[in-house]
Amino acid sequence: MHTVKVVTLGCSKNLVDSERVLKMLSNAGLDAVHEGDGYANIVIINTCGFIGDAKEESVNTILEYAEAKNNGKIEELYVMGCLSERYRDELQKEIHEVDRFYGKFDWTTIADDLSRKHGHPSLCYDRTITTPSHHAYLKIAEGCNRFCAFCAIPLITGRYKSRPIEEIEDEVRMLVGRGVKEFNVIAQDLSGYGQDLYGVQKLPELVDRLSRIEGVKWIRLHYAYPAQFPMEVMDVMANRPNVCAYLDIALQHISDKVLLNMRRHITADETRALLAEMRRRVPGLHIRTTLMTGFPGETEEDFEELLRFVEEQRFERMGAFAYCEEEGTYGAENYDDSIPEDVKQKRLDRLMDLQERISMELQQQKIGHRLEVVIDREEEEFYVGRTQWDSPEVDPEVLVKKDRTLMIGGFYEVEVKEALPFELIAVVV
Ligand code: SF4
Repeated sequence: MHTVKVVTLGCSKNLVDSERVLKMLSNAGLDAVHEGDGYANIVIINTCGFIGDAKEESVNTILEYAEAKNNGKIEELYVMGCLSERYRDELQKEIHEVDRFYGKFDWTTIADDLSRKHGHPSLCYDRTITTPSHHAYLKIAEGCNRFCAFCAIPLITGRYKSRPIEEIEDEVRMLVGRGVKEFNVIAQDLSGYGQDLYGVQKLPELVDRLSRIEGVKWIRLHYAYPAQFPMEVMDVMANRPNVCAYLDIALQHISDKVLLNMRRHITADETRALLAEMRRRVPGLHIRTTLMTGFPGETEEDFEELLRFVEEQRFERMGAFAYCEEEGTYGAENYDDSIPEDVKQKRLDRLMDLQERISMELQQQKIGHRLEVVIDREEEEFYVGRTQWDSPEVDPEVLVKKDRTLMIGGFYEVEVKEALPFELIAVVV
Protein backbone atom coordinates (compact mmCIF):
# COMPACT_ATOMS: atom_id res chain seq x y z
CA MET A 1 0.00 0.00 0.00
CA HIS A 2 1.29 3.46 -0.86
CA THR A 3 1.30 6.13 1.83
CA VAL A 4 0.96 9.70 0.62
CA LYS A 5 1.90 12.55 2.92
CA VAL A 6 0.56 16.03 2.17
CA VAL A 7 2.61 18.91 3.62
CA THR A 8 0.72 22.23 3.76
CA LEU A 9 2.45 25.62 3.82
CA GLY A 10 0.75 29.00 4.01
CA CYS A 11 -2.81 29.90 4.85
CA SER A 12 -6.07 28.19 5.74
CA LYS A 13 -7.18 28.42 2.10
CA ASN A 14 -4.30 26.12 1.17
CA LEU A 15 -5.26 23.82 4.01
CA VAL A 16 -8.74 23.34 2.52
CA ASP A 17 -7.18 22.33 -0.84
CA SER A 18 -4.93 19.85 0.97
CA GLU A 19 -7.97 18.43 2.76
CA ARG A 20 -9.69 17.88 -0.59
CA VAL A 21 -6.64 16.08 -2.01
CA LEU A 22 -6.41 13.89 1.12
CA LYS A 23 -10.04 12.85 0.85
CA MET A 24 -9.82 12.07 -2.86
CA LEU A 25 -6.70 9.97 -2.32
CA SER A 26 -8.20 8.01 0.56
CA ASN A 27 -11.39 7.46 -1.46
CA ALA A 28 -9.12 6.02 -4.15
CA GLY A 29 -7.75 3.47 -1.67
CA LEU A 30 -4.45 5.19 -0.84
CA ASP A 31 -3.22 5.73 2.69
CA ALA A 32 -3.24 9.56 2.80
CA VAL A 33 -1.90 11.44 5.81
CA HIS A 34 -1.45 15.08 6.66
CA GLU A 35 2.10 16.04 7.71
CA GLY A 36 3.56 14.27 10.77
CA ASP A 37 6.76 12.23 11.09
CA GLY A 38 5.37 8.87 10.00
CA TYR A 39 6.62 6.97 6.97
CA ALA A 40 5.32 7.92 3.52
CA ASN A 41 6.74 6.87 0.16
CA ILE A 42 4.99 9.66 -1.74
CA VAL A 43 5.04 13.32 -0.69
CA ILE A 44 2.94 16.23 -1.97
CA ILE A 45 3.99 19.73 -0.91
CA ASN A 46 1.24 22.37 -1.11
CA THR A 47 3.25 25.60 -1.37
CA CYS A 48 2.64 29.25 -0.54
CA GLY A 49 3.92 32.13 -2.68
CA PHE A 50 2.43 35.06 -0.80
CA ILE A 51 5.46 36.96 0.54
CA GLY A 52 9.24 36.56 0.60
CA ASP A 53 9.41 34.53 3.83
CA ALA A 54 6.65 32.18 2.74
CA LYS A 55 8.34 31.61 -0.63
CA GLU A 56 11.61 30.82 1.09
CA GLU A 57 9.93 28.36 3.45
CA SER A 58 8.26 26.63 0.47
CA VAL A 59 11.52 26.35 -1.49
CA ASN A 60 13.38 25.04 1.57
CA THR A 61 10.69 22.42 2.15
CA ILE A 62 10.89 21.27 -1.48
CA LEU A 63 14.70 21.02 -1.21
CA GLU A 64 14.43 19.07 2.03
CA TYR A 65 12.17 16.46 0.42
CA ALA A 66 14.26 16.47 -2.78
CA GLU A 67 17.18 15.39 -0.63
CA ALA A 68 15.03 12.71 1.01
CA LYS A 69 14.27 11.42 -2.50
CA ASN A 70 17.96 11.41 -3.44
CA ASN A 71 18.66 9.41 -0.27
CA GLY A 72 15.99 6.86 -1.14
CA LYS A 73 13.76 7.83 1.80
CA ILE A 74 10.81 8.67 -0.45
CA GLU A 75 9.96 7.45 -3.96
CA GLU A 76 7.85 10.20 -5.49
CA LEU A 77 7.67 13.95 -4.90
CA TYR A 78 4.99 16.35 -6.15
CA VAL A 79 4.56 20.09 -5.65
CA MET A 80 1.31 22.08 -5.95
CA GLY A 81 -0.07 25.44 -4.74
CA CYS A 82 0.69 29.14 -5.17
CA LEU A 83 4.48 29.04 -5.52
CA SER A 84 4.25 26.28 -8.07
CA GLU A 85 1.55 28.19 -9.99
CA ARG A 86 3.70 31.30 -10.18
CA TYR A 87 7.20 29.91 -10.69
CA ARG A 88 6.55 26.51 -12.26
CA ASP A 89 9.05 26.91 -15.14
CA GLU A 90 11.88 28.15 -12.93
CA LEU A 91 11.30 25.46 -10.31
CA GLN A 92 11.16 22.72 -12.95
CA LYS A 93 14.51 23.84 -14.34
CA GLU A 94 16.18 23.96 -10.92
CA ILE A 95 14.74 21.04 -8.94
CA HIS A 96 14.82 17.82 -10.96
CA GLU A 97 13.84 15.54 -8.08
CA VAL A 98 10.22 16.72 -8.27
CA ASP A 99 8.19 14.29 -10.39
CA ARG A 100 5.66 16.92 -11.39
CA PHE A 101 4.66 20.48 -10.54
CA TYR A 102 0.96 21.35 -10.36
CA GLY A 103 -0.67 24.79 -10.13
CA LYS A 104 -2.89 26.42 -7.53
CA PHE A 105 -6.17 25.07 -8.89
CA ASP A 106 -4.87 21.65 -9.92
CA TRP A 107 -5.68 19.81 -6.72
CA THR A 108 -8.24 17.60 -8.50
CA THR A 109 -5.67 16.77 -11.22
CA ILE A 110 -2.97 15.75 -8.76
CA ALA A 111 -5.44 13.59 -6.82
CA ASP A 112 -6.71 12.06 -10.08
CA ASP A 113 -3.18 11.36 -11.37
CA LEU A 114 -2.10 9.63 -8.17
CA SER A 115 -5.37 7.73 -7.89
CA ARG A 116 -4.94 6.42 -11.44
CA LYS A 117 -1.31 5.50 -10.86
CA HIS A 118 -1.60 3.84 -7.47
CA GLY A 119 -5.26 3.34 -6.55
CA HIS A 120 -8.59 3.50 -8.30
CA PRO A 121 -9.87 6.78 -9.74
CA SER A 122 -12.05 8.84 -7.45
CA LEU A 123 -14.38 11.59 -8.55
CA CYS A 124 -15.28 12.78 -5.09
CA TYR A 125 -14.95 16.48 -4.18
CA ASP A 126 -15.09 15.64 -0.52
CA ARG A 127 -12.33 16.58 1.99
CA THR A 128 -10.59 15.10 5.03
CA ILE A 129 -10.70 17.57 7.90
CA THR A 130 -7.21 18.05 9.37
CA THR A 131 -8.21 20.63 11.99
CA PRO A 132 -9.60 19.29 15.32
CA SER A 133 -12.82 17.54 14.26
CA HIS A 134 -15.19 20.14 15.74
CA HIS A 135 -14.07 23.03 13.53
CA ALA A 136 -13.39 23.45 9.82
CA TYR A 137 -12.52 26.20 7.38
CA LEU A 138 -15.12 26.88 4.73
CA LYS A 139 -13.77 28.40 1.53
CA ILE A 140 -16.57 30.26 -0.28
CA ALA A 141 -14.60 31.74 -3.19
CA GLU A 142 -11.26 31.64 -4.98
CA GLY A 143 -9.20 34.48 -6.39
CA CYS A 144 -9.38 38.25 -6.03
CA ASN A 145 -10.25 41.16 -8.35
CA ARG A 146 -8.93 44.00 -6.19
CA PHE A 147 -5.27 44.35 -7.21
CA CYS A 148 -4.01 46.18 -4.12
CA ALA A 149 -0.62 47.67 -5.00
CA PHE A 150 1.37 45.46 -2.57
CA CYS A 151 -0.32 42.12 -3.15
CA ALA A 152 0.60 39.29 -5.50
CA ILE A 153 -2.44 37.16 -4.72
CA PRO A 154 -4.55 38.18 -7.75
CA LEU A 155 -1.52 37.38 -9.96
CA ILE A 156 -1.38 33.88 -8.48
CA THR A 157 -5.00 32.98 -7.98
CA GLY A 158 -6.65 34.82 -10.88
CA ARG A 159 -10.10 36.44 -11.00
CA TYR A 160 -12.65 36.12 -8.23
CA LYS A 161 -14.80 33.02 -8.44
CA SER A 162 -17.68 32.49 -6.00
CA ARG A 163 -18.93 29.01 -5.18
CA PRO A 164 -22.70 28.61 -5.55
CA ILE A 165 -24.66 29.01 -2.30
CA GLU A 166 -26.27 25.56 -2.64
CA GLU A 167 -22.87 23.86 -3.02
CA ILE A 168 -21.58 25.58 0.13
CA GLU A 169 -24.75 24.60 2.02
CA ASP A 170 -24.26 20.96 0.95
CA GLU A 171 -20.68 21.03 2.17
CA VAL A 172 -21.76 22.44 5.55
CA ARG A 173 -24.46 19.78 5.95
CA MET A 174 -21.92 17.07 5.13
CA LEU A 175 -19.42 18.47 7.65
CA VAL A 176 -22.08 18.85 10.36
CA GLY A 177 -22.86 15.18 9.81
CA ARG A 178 -19.22 14.43 10.63
CA GLY A 179 -19.26 16.38 13.88
CA VAL A 180 -18.09 19.83 12.76
CA LYS A 181 -19.81 22.53 14.84
CA GLU A 182 -17.74 25.62 14.12
CA PHE A 183 -17.20 27.03 10.62
CA ASN A 184 -14.54 29.59 9.83
CA VAL A 185 -15.67 31.14 6.56
CA ILE A 186 -12.72 32.25 4.41
CA ALA A 187 -12.04 33.94 1.05
CA GLN A 188 -9.45 36.45 -0.14
CA ASP A 189 -12.27 38.99 -0.24
CA LEU A 190 -15.51 38.10 1.56
CA SER A 191 -17.13 41.40 0.58
CA GLY A 192 -17.22 40.54 -3.12
CA TYR A 193 -18.93 37.18 -2.61
CA GLY A 194 -21.68 36.53 -5.17
CA GLN A 195 -21.05 39.48 -7.49
CA ASP A 196 -19.49 37.36 -10.25
CA LEU A 197 -22.06 34.58 -10.01
CA TYR A 198 -25.32 36.38 -9.19
CA GLY A 199 -24.61 39.98 -10.24
CA VAL A 200 -25.09 41.18 -6.64
CA GLN A 201 -23.23 40.79 -3.36
CA LYS A 202 -24.61 37.76 -1.58
CA LEU A 203 -22.60 37.48 1.61
CA PRO A 204 -25.53 38.47 3.91
CA GLU A 205 -27.82 35.88 2.31
CA LEU A 206 -25.15 33.19 2.36
CA VAL A 207 -24.34 33.71 6.05
CA ASP A 208 -28.03 33.83 6.96
CA ARG A 209 -28.72 30.57 5.10
CA LEU A 210 -25.71 28.79 6.59
CA SER A 211 -26.73 29.91 10.09
CA ARG A 212 -30.08 28.15 9.64
CA ILE A 213 -28.51 24.73 9.01
CA GLU A 214 -29.17 22.53 12.02
CA GLY A 215 -26.04 21.68 13.99
CA VAL A 216 -24.10 24.83 13.05
CA LYS A 217 -22.99 26.20 16.40
CA TRP A 218 -20.62 29.01 15.34
CA ILE A 219 -19.91 30.79 12.04
CA ARG A 220 -17.00 33.22 11.99
CA LEU A 221 -16.12 35.55 9.09
CA HIS A 222 -12.62 36.13 7.75
CA TYR A 223 -11.01 38.59 5.35
CA ALA A 224 -13.55 41.23 4.46
CA TYR A 225 -12.46 44.04 2.17
CA PRO A 226 -13.47 47.49 3.50
CA ALA A 227 -14.57 49.22 0.27
CA GLN A 228 -18.08 48.17 -0.85
CA PHE A 229 -18.54 46.18 2.34
CA PRO A 230 -22.05 44.60 2.37
CA MET A 231 -23.24 46.16 5.65
CA GLU A 232 -26.40 43.99 5.84
CA VAL A 233 -24.18 41.09 6.92
CA MET A 234 -23.77 42.91 10.26
CA ASP A 235 -27.55 42.71 10.74
CA VAL A 236 -27.37 38.96 10.14
CA MET A 237 -24.57 38.84 12.73
CA ALA A 238 -26.69 40.78 15.23
CA ASN A 239 -29.81 38.70 14.66
CA ARG A 240 -28.50 35.16 14.30
CA PRO A 241 -27.10 33.82 17.60
CA ASN A 242 -24.73 31.36 15.91
CA VAL A 243 -22.97 34.00 13.78
CA CYS A 244 -20.04 35.09 15.97
CA ALA A 245 -19.77 38.80 16.76
CA TYR A 246 -16.41 38.83 15.03
CA LEU A 247 -15.09 40.21 11.77
CA ASP A 248 -11.65 39.88 10.27
CA ILE A 249 -11.19 42.91 8.02
CA ALA A 250 -7.78 44.02 6.77
CA LEU A 251 -7.52 47.83 6.81
CA GLN A 252 -3.77 48.10 6.01
CA HIS A 253 -3.43 51.83 6.80
CA ILE A 254 -5.31 55.02 7.65
CA SER A 255 -3.37 57.82 5.94
CA ASP A 256 -5.34 58.96 2.88
CA LYS A 257 -2.16 59.26 0.86
CA VAL A 258 -0.97 55.74 1.74
CA LEU A 259 -4.43 54.23 1.17
CA LEU A 260 -4.56 55.86 -2.26
CA ASN A 261 -1.10 54.61 -3.18
CA MET A 262 -2.05 51.17 -1.95
CA ARG A 263 -5.08 51.31 -4.30
CA ARG A 264 -7.49 50.44 -1.51
CA HIS A 265 -10.43 52.54 -2.82
CA ILE A 266 -11.30 53.93 0.61
CA THR A 267 -10.41 57.05 2.60
CA ALA A 268 -9.66 57.56 6.28
CA ASP A 269 -13.07 59.16 6.91
CA GLU A 270 -14.88 56.34 5.12
CA THR A 271 -12.89 53.77 7.12
CA ARG A 272 -13.86 55.41 10.43
CA ALA A 273 -17.52 55.64 9.38
CA LEU A 274 -17.49 51.98 8.33
CA LEU A 275 -16.09 50.81 11.68
CA ALA A 276 -18.51 52.99 13.65
CA GLU A 277 -21.49 51.60 11.72
CA MET A 278 -20.34 48.01 12.19
CA ARG A 279 -20.01 48.52 15.94
CA ARG A 280 -23.37 50.31 16.07
CA ARG A 281 -25.10 47.38 14.38
CA VAL A 282 -23.38 44.62 16.38
CA PRO A 283 -22.92 45.30 20.10
CA GLY A 284 -19.89 43.46 21.48
CA LEU A 285 -18.36 43.11 18.02
CA HIS A 286 -14.71 42.02 18.04
CA ILE A 287 -12.74 43.29 15.05
CA ARG A 288 -9.51 41.70 13.87
CA THR A 289 -7.51 43.77 11.45
CA THR A 290 -4.17 43.68 9.67
CA LEU A 291 -2.00 46.74 9.13
CA MET A 292 1.18 47.41 7.20
CA THR A 293 4.23 49.53 8.01
CA GLY A 294 6.82 50.87 5.59
CA PHE A 295 4.70 51.00 2.42
CA PRO A 296 6.60 53.13 -0.16
CA GLY A 297 6.19 56.80 0.66
CA GLU A 298 4.97 56.26 4.24
CA THR A 299 6.38 59.23 6.15
CA GLU A 300 6.91 59.51 9.90
CA GLU A 301 3.69 61.62 9.99
CA ASP A 302 1.74 58.92 8.14
CA PHE A 303 2.98 56.35 10.62
CA GLU A 304 2.10 58.57 13.61
CA GLU A 305 -1.39 58.88 12.12
CA LEU A 306 -1.60 55.09 12.02
CA LEU A 307 -0.58 54.86 15.69
CA ARG A 308 -3.24 57.40 16.65
CA PHE A 309 -5.82 55.43 14.68
CA VAL A 310 -4.97 52.20 16.52
CA GLU A 311 -5.09 54.02 19.86
CA GLU A 312 -8.49 55.52 19.00
CA GLN A 313 -10.10 52.37 17.55
CA ARG A 314 -8.82 49.90 20.15
CA PHE A 315 -9.09 46.85 17.91
CA GLU A 316 -9.77 43.69 19.87
CA ARG A 317 -7.30 41.81 17.67
CA MET A 318 -4.63 43.13 15.34
CA GLY A 319 -1.77 41.78 13.26
CA ALA A 320 0.79 43.78 11.27
CA PHE A 321 3.46 43.28 8.62
CA ALA A 322 6.38 45.26 7.32
CA TYR A 323 6.04 45.97 3.58
CA CYS A 324 7.87 43.53 1.37
CA GLU A 325 8.08 44.25 -2.35
CA GLU A 326 6.43 41.53 -4.44
CA GLU A 327 7.54 41.05 -8.00
CA GLY A 328 4.91 41.81 -10.65
CA THR A 329 2.70 43.93 -8.39
CA TYR A 330 1.68 47.51 -9.12
CA GLY A 331 3.77 48.61 -6.14
CA ALA A 332 6.91 46.88 -7.36
CA GLU A 333 6.55 48.34 -10.84
CA ASN A 334 5.63 51.89 -9.87
CA TYR A 335 7.15 52.73 -6.48
CA ASP A 336 10.59 52.70 -4.97
CA ASP A 337 10.87 50.39 -1.98
CA SER A 338 12.88 53.18 -0.39
CA ILE A 339 12.10 52.88 3.32
CA PRO A 340 15.02 51.11 5.03
CA GLU A 341 14.23 47.69 6.49
CA ASP A 342 15.19 48.76 10.01
CA VAL A 343 12.75 51.70 9.85
CA LYS A 344 9.94 49.41 8.65
CA GLN A 345 10.76 47.00 11.47
CA LYS A 346 10.95 49.70 14.16
CA ARG A 347 7.55 51.02 13.11
CA LEU A 348 6.17 47.49 13.18
CA ASP A 349 7.53 46.95 16.70
CA ARG A 350 6.02 50.23 17.95
CA LEU A 351 2.66 49.29 16.47
CA MET A 352 2.70 45.84 18.04
CA ASP A 353 3.80 47.23 21.43
CA LEU A 354 0.85 49.59 21.37
CA GLN A 355 -1.50 46.77 20.44
CA GLU A 356 -0.16 44.58 23.24
CA ARG A 357 -1.11 47.26 25.77
CA ILE A 358 -4.57 47.72 24.23
CA SER A 359 -5.11 43.98 24.09
CA MET A 360 -4.13 43.63 27.76
CA GLU A 361 -6.62 46.35 28.77
CA LEU A 362 -9.42 44.79 26.75
CA GLN A 363 -8.66 41.33 28.09
CA GLN A 364 -8.76 42.62 31.67
CA GLN A 365 -12.27 43.92 31.12
CA LYS A 366 -13.35 40.29 30.72
CA ILE A 367 -12.35 39.32 34.27
CA GLY A 368 -15.44 38.23 36.20
CA HIS A 369 -17.50 37.74 33.03
CA ARG A 370 -19.13 34.46 32.06
CA LEU A 371 -18.34 33.33 28.52
CA GLU A 372 -19.04 30.30 26.39
CA VAL A 373 -15.95 28.44 25.20
CA VAL A 374 -15.30 25.48 22.93
CA ILE A 375 -12.57 23.14 24.15
CA ASP A 376 -9.87 22.49 21.51
CA ARG A 377 -7.37 20.35 23.40
CA GLU A 378 -6.10 19.17 26.74
CA GLU A 379 -2.74 20.09 28.26
CA GLU A 380 -1.17 19.06 31.54
CA GLU A 381 -2.82 21.62 33.80
CA PHE A 382 -5.51 23.16 31.61
CA TYR A 383 -8.04 22.53 28.92
CA VAL A 384 -7.45 25.00 26.10
CA GLY A 385 -10.53 26.64 24.65
CA ARG A 386 -11.71 29.62 22.64
CA THR A 387 -14.67 32.02 22.80
CA GLN A 388 -16.77 33.13 19.83
CA TRP A 389 -14.25 36.00 19.45
CA ASP A 390 -11.22 33.75 19.01
CA SER A 391 -10.37 32.31 15.65
CA PRO A 392 -8.16 29.17 15.71
CA GLU A 393 -4.40 29.71 15.38
CA VAL A 394 -4.42 33.53 15.43
CA ASP A 395 -6.45 34.75 18.40
CA PRO A 396 -6.10 34.47 22.20
CA GLU A 397 -7.02 31.23 23.94
CA VAL A 398 -8.82 30.52 27.19
CA LEU A 399 -7.03 28.25 29.64
CA VAL A 400 -9.71 26.44 31.64
CA LYS A 401 -8.62 24.96 34.97
CA LYS A 402 -9.03 21.21 35.20
CA ASP A 403 -11.62 21.09 37.99
CA ARG A 404 -13.66 18.50 36.15
CA THR A 405 -13.50 16.40 32.99
CA LEU A 406 -14.43 18.28 29.82
CA MET A 407 -14.91 16.94 26.31
CA ILE A 408 -12.76 18.09 23.41
CA GLY A 409 -15.16 19.83 21.03
CA GLY A 410 -17.66 20.46 23.85
CA PHE A 411 -19.08 23.93 24.62
CA TYR A 412 -19.03 25.11 28.27
CA GLU A 413 -19.75 28.24 30.26
CA VAL A 414 -16.70 29.55 32.10
CA GLU A 415 -15.95 32.46 34.40
CA VAL A 416 -12.83 34.50 33.64
CA LYS A 417 -10.47 34.77 36.63
CA GLU A 418 -7.28 36.28 35.19
CA ALA A 419 -6.17 37.98 31.98
CA LEU A 420 -2.88 38.04 30.09
CA PRO A 421 -2.43 40.01 26.83
CA PHE A 422 -3.15 36.97 24.69
CA GLU A 423 -4.74 34.46 27.10
CA LEU A 424 -7.53 34.30 29.63
CA ILE A 425 -7.56 31.98 32.65
CA ALA A 426 -11.02 30.68 33.58
CA VAL A 427 -12.98 28.07 35.55
CA VAL A 428 -16.04 26.14 34.47
CA VAL A 429 -19.25 27.29 36.15
S1 SF4 B 1 -8.09 42.38 -1.45
FE1 SF4 B 1 -6.60 41.14 -0.30
S2 SF4 B 1 -6.08 39.42 -1.68
FE2 SF4 B 1 -7.08 40.99 -2.94
S3 SF4 B 1 -5.39 42.20 -3.77
FE3 SF4 B 1 -6.05 43.25 -1.88
S4 SF4 B 1 -4.75 42.39 -0.26
FE4 SF4 B 1 -4.55 41.03 -2.04
